[in-house]
Amino acid sequence: MKDSKAGIEEILDDVLQSYPAKSMKNRKEHILVKDRNKSELKIKANTRTIPGIITNRGCAYAGCRGVVLGPLKDVVQIVHGPIGCSYYAWGMRRHQGLAAEGGKNFINYTFSTDMQDSDVVFGGERKLKEAIKEAVEIFNPSTIMITATCPVGLIGDDINSIAKQAEEEYGITVMAFNCEGYKGVSQSAGHHIANNEIMDNLVGIKDKELDYKYPINLMGEYNIGGDAFEIERILHKIGYDVVASFSGNGTADQIKYSHEADLNLVQCHRSINYIAEMFEEKYGIPWLKVNFLGVDATIESLRNMAEYFADPELQERTEKVIAEELAQIEAPLNRYKELFTGKTAFLFVGGSRAHHYQNVFKRIGIETVVAGYEFGHRDDYEGREVIPDIEMTADDRNIPELEVTKDDKKYRLRISQAKKEELQQKMPLDYYGGMIKEMEDGSVAIDDLNHHEQIKLTEALKPDIYCSGIKDKYTSHKMGIFSKQLHSYDYSGPYAGFKGHLQFAEDIAAGILNPSWSYITPPWKEKTTLEGSFGGGE
Ligand code: SF4
Repeated sequence: MKDSKAGIEEILDDVLQSYPAKSMKNRKEHILVKDRNKSELKIKANTRTIPGIITNRGCAYAGCRGVVLGPLKDVVQIVHGPIGCSYYAWGMRRHQGLAAEGGKNFINYTFSTDMQDSDVVFGGERKLKEAIKEAVEIFNPSTIMITATCPVGLIGDDINSIAKQAEEEYGITVMAFNCEGYKGVSQSAGHHIANNEIMDNLVGIKDKELDYKYPINLMGEYNIGGDAFEIERILHKIGYDVVASFSGNGTADQIKYSHEADLNLVQCHRSINYIAEMFEEKYGIPWLKVNFLGVDATIESLRNMAEYFADPELQERTEKVIAEELAQIEAPLNRYKELFTGKTAFLFVGGSRAHHYQNVFKRIGIETVVAGYEFGHRDDYEGREVIPDIEMTADDRNIPELEVTKDDKKYRLRISQAKKEELQQKMPLDYYGGMIKEMEDGSVAIDDLNHHEQIKLTEALKPDIYCSGIKDKYTSHKMGIFSKQLHSYDYSGPYAGFKGHLQFAEDIAAGILNPSWSYITPPWKEKTTLEGSFGGGE
């Protein structure tokens, strides 16, 4: 760390000083300094942002439509709402998809009912029915998904019965997602709503005989900048077959028979752990926490997968592929490490990426000084062992809980309980340890960061790179610090796997070693900024 732990505490005190007392107390609970000597490292997360603070978060609809459903290629996804909400539906996350031979790919389209004032006053159901009819006539999809935005919930359009009617009328799958933006405190609520609906109405509705030796599902990987293409390339080279992807480069059709897999790989724990848990309960498929971002994490994940399937031939092929891939990137990656050593990073992104990218940076000599999540829960920070202690809030109750039970016909025990327990000693099978355990002492974990905190911490810690979420990238640029948007990779990628790590290092070098940042004078250095204090006793 550039600063001692005592120094960090002073910096944080200074950051919090600007808040009124109640807000200060609240924000303090969302920030912690990693100290391995402390018996408990508890952080507050997944609670409402303080009114008045401009959060970097997205809404529940963004999590449902933008994150989980968005990458499905063969689905016409109709956003029922004003056109502004479709900002989250048109290429913003740069998830990519390649149609299979003869398959359909609607990923480059966005479909919206474009609600107007009159639709809000008189109801938008007629417009939605027309949109479905038009989509069927023009695109002839096998699946349509309808996502609800805030106004739809407020005026009470019944998207569920419209979906049911359309299903009967057109003989295709039509699903409705009640994911109005206000349904939760962040995107996370939308992930949960999407997963529940997919599990309830899509998974397991089709049986398929698969001639696969190692059938796996890829979960929580959204093919940003082509990451899933690179992961699938490595997995196929070793000999795995991806039954279904949730949802990068995935299809609704594959999801229908995804219960045929023997292992679920979970990349983003936050967005998908719900469905992974339900798969185990209903079909007997365990899940393994993997991370394909960063060479070291990729190697560990591949070795764990090979050990799970317990086939010496598979283990041998895994090692061969690791050696081949490493040989192509190790020397240039080491050169980047020499260039970057001593540099620091500030990460505020997503619900898993702020953890995953710490491994990526570490391998190329960059230390993470601050890391936080937009929409993580306590288990994403502290590990799944804290789940029983997480209190249910009124916001959580907005999301109907889905009760899943064993499917007597389709349940198949993949590994015995004894074998599972043995593997759990060696790998994160049905487990995620969270971000904080792997952070360095003295580094800061911060939940639901806002622009004030971003600016103050950046001024004090002077990171060399800021990895951002959706809304905070340009705050960093104005301060003369290179920023990489990790929800879309700006215009680059893939960053997953071996070659992806090298691509990432090249992009980071082009950013932080670029001298242009030193020519930027932040506006507050040239003109007086407004200063004030809070009145009225708190
Ligand atoms: S918060 Fe509501 S109105 Fe805003 S983008 Fe989300 S769904 Fe649309």
